[in-house]
Amino acid sequence: MYVAGVDVGSTAVKAVVLLDGRIAGTNVISTGTDQEKTAFQSLSAAAQDAGVVDIEDISAMVATGYGRSMVKMADRTVTEITCHARGGRAFAEAAHVIVDIGGQDSKVIRLDEDGMVADFVMNDKCAAGTGRFLEVMAERLEVPLSDFGKMWRATRKPAMISSTCTVFAESEVVSLLSHGVAREPIIRGLCDAVADRLAGMVHRVGLATEVVMTGGVSRNDGVRLSLERKLGLKVSVPSMSQFAGAYGAAIIALELAEKGR
Ligand code: ADP
Repeated sequence: MYVAGVDVGSTAVKAVVLLDGRIAGTNVISTGTDQEKTAFQSLSAAAQDAGVVDIEDISAMVATGYGRSMVKMADRTVTEITCHARGGRAFAEAAHVIVDIGGQDSKVIRLDEDGMVADFVMNDKCAAGTGRFLEVMAERLEVPLSDFGKMWRATRKPAMISSTCTVFAESEVVSLLSHGVAREPIIRGLCDAVADRLAGMVHRVGLATEVVMTGGVSRNDGVRLSLERKLGLKVSVPSMSQFAGAYGAAIIALELAEKGR
């Protein structure tokens, strides 16, 4: 039986198709202006990846993410907190704290022993210190985001970045560059600023030993390294971390489909 989850994020739409409970297909594309259309495109591509012949063969579909209400074809919409908690726990069984950092928001979720949401904090008021913030800095520094980890490791002395506000931090970056500061310490300083903010959120829900990072920014190794330093423990990143919300939605879709049988 095929089921699907679609996560309509502010920056990227992610879709996961399960075949008999296992991930059989995935897709990620940029969120367009027509979120319903983009969600359908992502679902279709994930379905094709999974070998689904006809989209009607998908028994149930759950939508999550910031644009979830736009997905009219979904059997149900479920909050990002619930889906990230389900997907994060399924990716990493021991997870007790999930740090999800996406394009324009970040959330930290604390799970109880059964994997249920015990507490969470969310920063969705502005893009300060999120994926978009890092994208703007990467453009300004002319360094691809995928190189941030390599650049982080190339220096021991981070530059001081005092703000996670995109506008203020960009002018700090410009000023540092004009004073001849190399890009490596600037990048490490930016990662530290993002991690500082995340660590504050982790402490608000309560630190636990098993911290798992999800969302697109979990692929930014510089941010992970800075967060490990701030928290003083290892932070794990599942290989399909950007799909945690869509995976959680697909798991809920499977439960719906099984109930309906
Ligand atoms: P949302 O769900 O809010 O749309 P995502 O969780 O998909 O966002 O994360 C999008 C962010 O992920 C981008 O803004 C970017 O900073 C980051 N990102 C995506 N791919 C990579 C990568 N390969 N390396 C580093 N960062 C990445």
